[in-house]
Amino acid sequence: MSDPKVRFGTRCVHAGQSPEPVTGAITTPLFQTSTYVQDGLGRHRGYEYGRLQNPTREAAEANIAALEGARHGISFSSGLAAIECLVKTVAAGGHVVSEENTYGGTTRMFTQVLDRLGIEVTLVDTRDEAAVRAAVRPDTRLIHLETPSNPLMRIADIEVLARTAEAAGALLCVDNTFASPCNLNPLALGADVVVHSTTKYLSGHSDVLGGVVVLDDDALADELFFVRKSTGPVPGPFDSWLTLRGARTLHLRMERHNENGMRIAEFLESHPLVRRVHYPGLPSHPRHELARRQMTGFSGMVSAELDEADARRMAEGTRIIRLAESLGGVESMICIPSLMTHASVPEDARLRMGITNGLVRVSAGIEDAADLVEDIERALSHKDRI
Ligand SMILES: *Cc1c(COP(=O)(O)O)cnc(C)c1O
Repeated sequence: MSDPKVRFGTRCVHAGQSPEPVTGAITTPLFQTSTYVQDGLGRHRGYEYGRLQNPTREAAEANIAALEGARHGISFSSGLAAIECLVKTVAAGGHVVSEENTYGGTTRMFTQVLDRLGIEVTLVDTRDEAAVRAAVRPDTRLIHLETPSNPLMRIADIEVLARTAEAAGALLCVDNTFASPCNLNPLALGADVVVHSTTKYLSGHSDVLGGVVVLDDDALADELFFVRKSTGPVPGPFDSWLTLRGARTLHLRMERHNENGMRIAEFLESHPLVRRVHYPGLPSHPRHELARRQMTGFSGMVSAELDEADARRMAEGTRIIRLAESLGGVESMICIPSLMTHASVPEDARLRMGITNGLVRVSAGIEDAADLVEDIERALSHKDRI
């Protein structure tokens, strides 16, 4: 059921899945197998080997593609594997323009690994559309955005940058991990490709690593499938099963993530020790109006600037909100990006963007908001100072 007319929540629950033909099992079975017995030489049932095909994986891919309103979903063993496959496929020997404030591992891959394959990357602040146009070259194949960006919650204007990409003859890719397809559908705004770390909101329970590339173009989807089968970064069947199980409740979880993100952002904005809060749902966000036009919710990701000592106290002092890398799980998490997720970004670049040691990032889970706010309040309160 990938009927585009049915609404988002119905797609979460049903897209890509039909009752299993032998028994009628209502959930997609876990096909934990590496290979398939063939009926005769050159005769098989569409399934040859696990690196090429797996029914559980295909169900998860069809589900996520439907959530983005796309024709194709191709999944990977991690979010970075998905981005790498896309960039290798479309930009080998060419040039990429990327948002400078991406997930730290994405920047590291662009600047320290893909350069070895002759792929050049120019990092820019993609809120500045003139800077993006200026960075484009005749051999630019891809413009890569992350919106909201990690961890500064920068909002890029997808519609405007889709026109820039088209004029440049390049593809526009949006890493939609932070917003999730529940809050933002980049393809509907003109993007060509969407990538997700399904490790985060899509699977949603902090129990699996995965990634997906989602797109409409049939020829590019075939190419990506070819490169994936030829290089091997496929997710295992059980990881695909867990991802599909998580995605079925995405709409319900995101409602609470959005609510809790807003509550934490409002609380932090009112706190005397907090200098600035980055959350696109707050009217104080410099691109709040654009975020409201482009997104239907603002997700659970919030960051805030404090003095370094206060930031450390908050990150180490919360008890319900766990000190951990990653995000998008049902449990709330807190981190200091400069020391954790973005430690691989050179210090001068980090500081120029505002990723200081006093910047704290919270991934609001789906607990009761009042407990989360009290947890932060307690951690920040001077009374508890040791
Ligand atoms: C986590 C993350 C990635 C990388 O995904 P992995 O599954 O950890 O490889 C890429 N982009 C964003 C925005 C992320 O949060």
